[in-house]
Amino acid sequence: MLITRFKKKFPGKKLSRIGTGGDILYYAMVPSLIFLRNVIKFSHDQKLPFYILGAGSNVLLSDERVNGIVLKLGGIFKAISFSNDLSHVSAGGGTSLIKLGNLLAEHGNLGYSYMAVIPGSVGGAIAMNAGTTNEGEIKDHFVTAQVFDPLTEKINEYGNGEMNFSNRSSSLLKTTNIVLQASFRLSPVEKRNKELAIQKIKELRSSRQAKQPKNPKTFGSTFKNPKGQKTAGWYLEKVGMKGMRIGGAMVAPEHANWIVNEGNATSNDVKSLIEIGKNRVYEEFGIRLQREVIFFPEDIEERV
Ligand SMILES: Cc1cc2nc3c(=O)[nH]c(=O)nc-3n(C[C@H](O)[C@H](O)[C@H](O)COP(=O)(O)OP(=O)(O)OC[C@H]3O[C@@H](n4cnc5c(N)ncnc54)[C@H](O)[C@@H]3O)c2cc1C
Repeated sequence: MLITRFKKKFPGKKLSRIGTGGDILYYAMVPSLIFLRNVIKFSHDQKLPFYILGAGSNVLLSDERVNGIVLKLGGIFKAISFSNDLSHVSAGGGTSLIKLGNLLAEHGNLGYSYMAVIPGSVGGAIAMNAGTTNEGEIKDHFVTAQVFDPLTEKINEYGNGEMNFSNRSSSLLKTTNIVLQASFRLSPVEKRNKELAIQKIKELRSSRQAKQPKNPKTFGSTFKNPKGQKTAGWYLEKVGMKGMRIGGAMVAPEHANWIVNEGNATSNDVKSLIEIGKNRVYEEFGIRLQREVIFFPEDIEERV
């Protein structure tokens, strides 16, 4: 019975890295395509909405009960394989991006160090077009993805040009489609260098550790960097956000664009800080900061 594999009234805070949020009516880890198809049928029959979550690194779960089914990809969706000529790698949507980045470095690929430092899954990274300012982003290497459309229950293949990749965004953020698997282009074989690739990751990791807050309960950047020279963090610092607290949430003293959970924060505490920061920056500089963090499921309910 499918429903016996669901966890009922699952604490949502266990699914988001910042560790806030209310209960989820049904939560399931999806091991196979058959299971996924059955869950989607069940959600249609029961008229329950469903939502796909990756590693929960970039989401703020609602404090209200999520009256639907939340899915994460596991099982076969965590597999990694290389093409015979080693020119491409294929990874399941539930694969850890850090694991993939480290593996590519082991194979000597250069230019993929960003993957080895960004927490999350391959599916979430594609949806967000994850990347770092100077090291690259998903759209630089993404070739194609197998994407399940729950409305038609078909699997479609999308190439890079169909993903509308932009600043920490893609067309996936406008649909309920699910990335099952994706392939990425690799470095030309003659340019590979394992020692250098591993060294690049170490350097990137240590430069990030020096700048980023130590508290792991966060979703990283709250807002996207606006166009222009100044970062979102610069504006937020100028309007006095660093160190501001509401309830158990605090704007990190080390980085004004990061919010951390000091232990007992609610998502509403975090939302209040986001609202204050956004309003202050607009009042002071006339700049409308765009959120990078996904409000879950509110932002997803707006999708078609
Ligand atoms: C400490 C820290 C540092 C970070 N640094 C960076 C950084 O340098 N650069 C950067 O870009 N981001 C960074 N982030 C943000 C986050 O790591 C990325 O956005 C990451 O790609 C999110 O992946 P996820 O699997 O956790 O997605 P989630 O947070 O679980 O979900 C994000 C979105 O992706 C969708 N999604 C998830 N899986 C799938 C799928 N299989 N198919 C379709 N849609 C899917 C979800 O529905 C949701 O809308 C950081 C976060 C933290 C906590």
